[in-house]
Amino acid sequence: MNHGITRTTTLALLLAGLTLGIANAAPQKDEGPQPRVVDPGSATKAPADAVVLFDGSDVSHFVRDKDGAPCRCTIESGAMACVTGVGDIVSTEKFRDAQIHLEFMPPYMPEQHSQLRGNSGVYLQGKYEIQVLDSYQNPTYADGVLGALYGQAAPLVNAARPPREWSTYDMIFHGPRCDAKGNVTDLATVTVLLNGVLVQDHMTIARSGQAKGCPDGPILLQDHSGFPGAPLTTMRFRNIWLRHLGEGPVIWK
Ligand code: MG
Repeated sequence: MNHGITRTTTLALLLAGLTLGIANAAPQKDEGPQPRVVDPGSATKAPADAVVLFDGSDVSHFVRDKDGAPCRCTIESGAMACVTGVGDIVSTEKFRDAQIHLEFMPPYMPEQHSQLRGNSGVYLQGKYEIQVLDSYQNPTYADGVLGALYGQAAPLVNAARPPREWSTYDMIFHGPRCDAKGNVTDLATVTVLLNGVLVQDHMTIARSGQAKGCPDGPILLQDHSGFPGAPLTTMRFRNIWLRHLGEGPVIWK
């Protein structure tokens, strides 16, 4: 074996690689504005640029919808427990376009069926309900299943976990756009992942109910009481945050 040749070849390859590396390090395009740096957080910590609505410590970022009274949900082990009768609650933060994260845990209600088993909902801008329901082995009408855009679009799949387990919702919502007269020109859209599984894929929300003027709105969490036969339900939520959207990505010219 000729070790001299081997060493020479190795050195040549190293030099070639170094030269290639220097070439690749050269700018390939105009240097432009860079994306903002955002600490992404973790499974239990919101991204750095998120508005945290509930981190387990207090419920002050929510109020009762009907009169603005303090939220009467209680804190249990870092979760917000909302019992039938506390009323719908709304976030004090309003938004036009947002990325939204929250976690929820339906109770175990084997004596109940269909819409009476662990019902709540996340209303985007206080108007458009993404259904919360115990949909684990609990048949109901398709556009009322967990993950449905209620009354309009069934979820692509039923990705429900059993009751008494935590589930996650991640949503991308774009509110409607209006012209100068306040008439809706572009309808709202929503994308929803339930437990990391896509259940609404850039769904356009029906025109009916889209408010004139396109006002910003809150996250509303439903108290499913007042319906015929509605049972006592304790719905739990945790780790609720949103990120306002609006800045587009960096576009290279
Ligand atoms: Mg509901």
